[in-house]
Amino acid sequence: MQNTLFFINYKALQSILILIFMFAPVNSYSHSAKNHVEEEINVYSGRKGKLIEPMLEKFENKTGIKVNLITAKSDALIKRMESEGESSPADLFITVDVGRLDRAKKMGLLQKINSFSIINKLPQNYIDKDREWIGISKRIRTVVISKKMKDKNDLKNFEDLANNQWTGRICVRSSNNIYNQSLVASMIANHGEQKTESTIKEIVKNFARKPSGNDRAQITAISKGECDIAIVNHYYYLLMLNSKDEEKRKAANQTEVIFLNQDNRGAHVNISGLGIPKHAKNYENAIQLISFMLEIEAQEWYAKTNNEFPVVNGAKVSKLLSEWGSIKLDESTLKKLGDLNPNAVKLMDRVGWQ
Ligand code: FE
Repeated sequence: MQNTLFFINYKALQSILILIFMFAPVNSYSHSAKNHVEEEINVYSGRKGKLIEPMLEKFENKTGIKVNLITAKSDALIKRMESEGESSPADLFITVDVGRLDRAKKMGLLQKINSFSIINKLPQNYIDKDREWIGISKRIRTVVISKKMKDKNDLKNFEDLANNQWTGRICVRSSNNIYNQSLVASMIANHGEQKTESTIKEIVKNFARKPSGNDRAQITAISKGECDIAIVNHYYYLLMLNSKDEEKRKAANQTEVIFLNQDNRGAHVNISGLGIPKHAKNYENAIQLISFMLEIEAQEWYAKTNNEFPVVNGAKVSKLLSEWGSIKLDESTLKKLGDLNPNAVKLMDRVGWQ
């Protein structure tokens, strides 16, 4: 029995070898005709599909490069790239917040974006000093206040939130959120660590409640009378204001947005952005996709879809945002926020920002 099996296997092996021999020339032919192989790009996105899919589809139609999209939480994608190592299929990493992009860079997960046409399209403040990440849209972290608030004229700068006038009136999410970490990092960039610590310490004393929930939950808390001031990203306010959900619209309608630090450094600005993963197998396709995302039409669509501001000069802001007029932004410190992130995290911990 054993012998028979061996015999069959041997015969099978012989047939396989003959087959391989027969088809060998065909295989090498298809390898040499590389331009017939379908071009593709694997995109890891921390942004939701609906915020990028239509743009990726246009790119596919224009270039014939097939886009494979994987969406997940940004931090999970960072972990995934880290564990995949050299075998990672990721060719482009899209996420939000400069702090997170810089973290991916410091973990050695990104590589240089080697394209002058990309670099020349962007204002310098929105390009990493080593060109490992770039911004693709801008968002402002600011405050939304109750329309009933009588003393709103006393609130001009983020630093004003440290005054005891606001005791028990501020709502904000927790310190483990990257948006807050980058906001505090921007304070450190502007004032140094010591001054920032004493300011943030006072602001924390003014919190209305233990930080919990996302940015939208802070706006809802104002409508419920739990606080007067919510620290949020501007687009969440617009999202709620234009929501299909009547409850959310009602809540947002009881509030208004204020842009801070307009007479000095400008409002805190952050980005959604991207980088090319270290082990990208389709680097040139990634360069093509990035270039496409920086074209005026794509910029305007991408920014408008999440009520954000385009980064490329010449791309127009949406009608909704243009109603706010021109807003002064604190752009010059953006590149430093990644380096200052650990300092911000420790500082928030020291002052008891939960
Ligand atoms: Fe967000």
